[in-house]
Amino acid sequence: IMSTETFEFQVEARQLLQLMIHSVYSNKDVFLRELVSNASDALDKLRLAALRDDTLDADVSDLHIDIETDTEARTLTVRDNGIGMSYDEVGRLIGTIANSGTAKFVEELREAQDEAGAEGLIGQFGVGFYSGFMVADEMTLLTRRAGEGHGTRWSSRGEGTYTLERVDDAPQGTTVTLHLKPADSDDQLHDYTSEWTIREIVKRYSDFITWPIRMVPKAAASGADDTADGSDSPDEAAAAPEPETLNSMKALWARSREEVSDDEYHELYKHISHDWREPLETVRLQAEGTFEYQALLFVPSHAPHDLYNQGYQRGVQLYVKRVFIMDDCEALLPPYLRFVKGVVDAADLSLNVSREILQQDRHIRMMQRRLTKKVVSTVKDMMTAAPERYATFWREFGAVLKEGLLSDSDNRDALLAVSSFATTHSQEEPTTLKSYVERMKDGQEAVYYLTGESRQSIENSPHMEAFRAKGIEVLLLTDPVDEVWVDAVGEFEGKPLRSVAKGEVDLGGEGDEKADGEREKQDEEYAALLGWMKEHLDEDVKEVRLSSRLTVSPACIVSDAHDLTPALENMYRAMGQ
Ligand code: ADP
Ligand code: MG
Repeated sequence: IMSTETFEFQVEARQLLQLMIHSVYSNKDVFLRELVSNASDALDKLRLAALRDDTLDADVSDLHIDIETDTEARTLTVRDNGIGMSYDEVGRLIGTIANSGTAKFVEELREAQDEAGAEGLIGQFGVGFYSGFMVADEMTLLTRRAGEGHGTRWSSRGEGTYTLERVDDAPQGTTVTLHLKPADSDDQLHDYTSEWTIREIVKRYSDFITWPIRMVPKAAASGADDTADGSDSPDEAAAAPEPETLNSMKALWARSREEVSDDEYHELYKHISHDWREPLETVRLQAEGTFEYQALLFVPSHAPHDLYNQGYQRGVQLYVKRVFIMDDCEALLPPYLRFVKGVVDAADLSLNVSREILQQDRHIRMMQRRLTKKVVSTVKDMMTAAPERYATFWREFGAVLKEGLLSDSDNRDALLAVSSFATTHSQEEPTTLKSYVERMKDGQEAVYYLTGESRQSIENSPHMEAFRAKGIEVLLLTDPVDEVWVDAVGEFEGKPLRSVAKGEVDLGGEGDEKADGEREKQDEEYAALLGWMKEHLDEDVKEVRLSSRLTVSPACIVSDAHDLTPALENMYRAMGQ
């Protein structure tokens, strides 16, 4: 006997659902984009699974998405014949918030408190499947995993519980049925049982989906029903109404720039990235010749919260001649560009290509080099053509990009040119190294910097005193990676990068250093004190000496020029080294 079990939603999921049910989000149309996006992913997954495993008992002959509406019953159905889900998968994927981005969303939601804040957040995160509850008071999902015999029915009114039931007969793939909330009578535009509305929404949000999104036109559907009801001719009764494909299915990356609107690019970005915001920049590249490929890459406008986590999923998908091959293709871009999303479609790869093969493939390495240069030059263009966008870029991704200063010596100069740093020269505006060098004082030989946890803690450091007094600009570096790249890079345009906290800083030519004679006299005068201090601090310091680097503070601790900075020491200690 097949029994229906009732389950409670996970706490986070329940909160999210509450928000959806009482949604204040103005753009409810996007629920359809989310369902279509899931269906498209499911078709991609099935095609790939069938390609990898020829024993898989699945029908891949006519993969597509169907949309159906019923005005009387007030239902909207989105059906795919893709990979489907097993009973356990439905519980895991639909009953909980598995997506860490969504979990983060809910966390911020709790803090946002008011409706306006919540609306802004929906716009940022998107909520996938659950967004159906913006327009539905009940959702049902019937699914069968390709290759499995039994199916599963999931159903919920979005209010705390859902039911799961094993079913004998379910078609391969997933059917999601929404029972729509009562319509607002003057709101023709958002009547989701209207064929016209569905057409518009699919065209706007899902045109580029590479699978057919089909709908049987109402006229044809009812015409066919009449025939079936009123005729006893078996031929006519069997004539199924012809579904119409609503989307153009054109791969945007294969089309020329002029043919594609910014909005279309942005919708593709949202589909790939699961981000609901517009990207900051779109990068196109079409390579012809012996190894042909097309790339459409996006720089997001916000750093994902898990960018620094192990196992962060990168966002570049690999296609081979329009066939989706894999998500998260790490061979296509270096780790320091892991925030970039998009699609790369290569003409001459095997559909069975594996990650291991990609890592070693000479063509892929060439592709990576070319894509890297293209992204970096896009940032460079942004710097001059759109300084505000560049500022956003740098705020969100500067710390990641700087990892490249360490790991990618080929592009080091190009990366340095697009890097900017907080500086004592300006409270608000960061500076490039180039501008710093242009401002250097006569006789100043080095680019000075100090690393620390925050701008404020650096500015309060006694090491800064002499520099402040002499009006010498110092870069204020606060990202953990700064500790490391400055040593690796070493110099800029022949000027050494020098920490103001290390070694004897020679401000000789750069200010009014005391005459040698005078310093010797002072050394003699304070010899006893210095000796006494050295003796008492023997455990902790190597040397006690007079210094001209301080103007207000009586003393400060300095590292040897080649010592680790305190922050790095902490870092290594934390790593157990
Ligand atoms: P996301 O798409 O961002 O992962 P969703 O809430 O849209 O989040 O979907 C959650 C998960 O449920 C998907 O990752 C997928 O594994 C599964 N899923 C949703 N819809 C379908 C579908 N039509 N076919 C197969 N699996 C699906
Ligand atoms: Mg989704």
